[in-house]
Amino acid sequence: MDAVSQRHFSRSDCCLPIKFARSEDRHYCESTLCNISRTGMYFESAEAVRPQSNVQIIMPEPSPSAPGSGEYQYYAGQIMWCRRVQGKSGACFGCGIRLSKCGQQADGEDAHLICQLCDMCNEATPCDEIETIDCHIYLCPSCFSYLSALPDGQLKSAVIRFLQGNVV
Ligand SMILES: [Zn+2]
Repeated sequence: MDAVSQRHFSRSDCCLPIKFARSEDRHYCESTLCNISRTGMYFESAEAVRPQSNVQIIMPEPSPSAPGSGEYQYYAGQIMWCRRVQGKSGACFGCGIRLSKCGQQADGEDAHLICQLCDMCNEATPCDEIETIDCHIYLCPSCFSYLSALPDGQLKSAVIRFLQGNVV
């Protein structure tokens, strides 16, 4: 297994109707889930969503072919990016989410935290403890403090370059 598939688990394409809402207004919009992995989703929506917004997703028709979605109906996460794309049904907004929670009940009452793998030591770490550097590199608390303690210089940039090479 290479570093990329370790990080993203299996990522599969799909085309499923979902509803999402920004956590603050709970107004659900219809959209289409195009891609899902254990830690992220890509969906297309008629409405733009501000990056960094927290959103909740309800999957009305769980599909056994998408990992996790046959099991889970509720997801929570944060929008990482949103941009105009040409989707299957015309111009729309494509949004990438980093998932933080999932649950089997559509109301999310039973939702639990999703673990992410540390890009340095590969330890599964609950996503609320994961630290992000350089926007893309996810580190567990001990790797993060190790890296933060390194003085700026060649060694530190070499480690960061190595991690970037693993995750890009
Ligand atoms: Zn680590």
